[in-house]
Amino acid sequence: MAKQLDPYEMAVAQLKKAASVLGLSDEIIEILAVPERVIQVKIPMKMDNGKTKVFIGWRSQHNSALGPYKGGIRYHPNVTMSEVMALSMWMTWKCALLELPYGGGKGGVKVDPKKLSRRELEDLSRKYFAALSRFVGIDWDIPAPDVYTDPQVMAWYVDEYINIIRKMEFGVVTAKPDILWGLKARVISTGYGVAVVAREAAKKILGGLEGRTIAIQGFGNVGSFAAKFLSEWGARVVAVSDSKGGILNNRGLNIEEVIRIKRETGAVLNYEDVEKKLTNEELLESEVDILIPAAIEGVITKDNAPRIKARIIVEGANGPLTPEADEILFKRGVFIAPDILANAGGVTMSWIEWVNNRMGGWLSEEDAMRKLDEKMMNAFVKFYNYCQRRSDVDYRTAAQALAIERVVSAMKLRGWI
Ligand code: NAD
Repeated sequence: MAKQLDPYEMAVAQLKKAASVLGLSDEIIEILAVPERVIQVKIPMKMDNGKTKVFIGWRSQHNSALGPYKGGIRYHPNVTMSEVMALSMWMTWKCALLELPYGGGKGGVKVDPKKLSRRELEDLSRKYFAALSRFVGIDWDIPAPDVYTDPQVMAWYVDEYINIIRKMEFGVVTAKPDILWGLKARVISTGYGVAVVAREAAKKILGGLEGRTIAIQGFGNVGSFAAKFLSEWGARVVAVSDSKGGILNNRGLNIEEVIRIKRETGAVLNYEDVEKKLTNEELLESEVDILIPAAIEGVITKDNAPRIKARIIVEGANGPLTPEADEILFKRGVFIAPDILANAGGVTMSWIEWVNNRMGGWLSEEDAMRKLDEKMMNAFVKFYNYCQRRSDVDYRTAAQALAIERVVSAMKLRGWI
């Protein structure tokens, strides 16, 4: 197991690497390394047993050169300020890469939500957002869900916020329930975006998607929708897995069926039309054209990177490759679509929801999907062309450099540097 790097140290190391490609000064690196603001809030809360407990939450607002801060809020017992700061920096790069009118933000509350009753969860959510209310806003900072937060939590945030500011600004958070002016398409958007990036990469590198073989690790929200769209577009999804293990059929899996089996039994292993069952390690090394790690971080390391057979890796999950694996695969000529590009479909759909909220509900779900496809495709093409020009730079650094260049240009124009 590789040593766990502090996420913020890792984000700063990546920033420095990308900055050296761009020839940025130490002054600019210093400005970009530190968030503009990190808000810490104390949330004292009366629990169901009558005792008061204090929770701590943060919101890191990393950079606003291109627009309001954008990024999720997570509830997790291991959340730290350092983690939230790192994630907010990656959000700045992700939004800039997708050319969304946003900077980066991220929030978190140190809590195990599984140990809270529903009343406690609602109370905690309302108190956290009330504490943040003067620091967020439709034109200032627009949160969304992340680990263990969902549309219901967003609905509580909106309700609390509306009562405090006395304005019906539903657009202050995104990925809301559709009744409260969210978009139904939000649930499929990250997986759809992953599929668009895989499709476009296949066009450039493999001459097209038709008949190409794909393995996907993780069959949750991101992995299952990526599988669905890619198989609908003519690719052969031959292997998928979840935490219990994987399945392989070289003739192609019937994805609608696998989705049904997973929903009804909780495991893809119960799908029967397979040639072979696979461990998650074997899935990553399977003989396919495209590999999509869409489960957890750090699964491709220096140990298994030399045995990866895919020519394209599309990062559905956040951080599935370790820095050593990145280097090995780059040297081996494997094309990597990094997470800040590949899994940006969610934040892109959040932007469409936010625009729609501002327009009073003008867009249809079809408009939203069309826009998502166009935005992901354009970002991919810009990234790919940049990689062609800078073939000396690895893919992760290239994606970050492209994003950072935009942020720095905006800072220069605004007179910050
Ligand atoms: P999810 O909980 O819906 O699904 C996760 C899947 O991974 C499940 O099928 C689970 O069984 C499987 N899994 C868990 N541990 C595993 C292991 N050790 N080996 C193999 N499979 C394992 O989560 P999700 O929303 O699909 O998110 C997946 C990844 O994508 C995460 O890294 C997340 O941060 C990232 N991501 C998600 C979104 C989004 O909008 N959902 C957006 C950006 C990034």
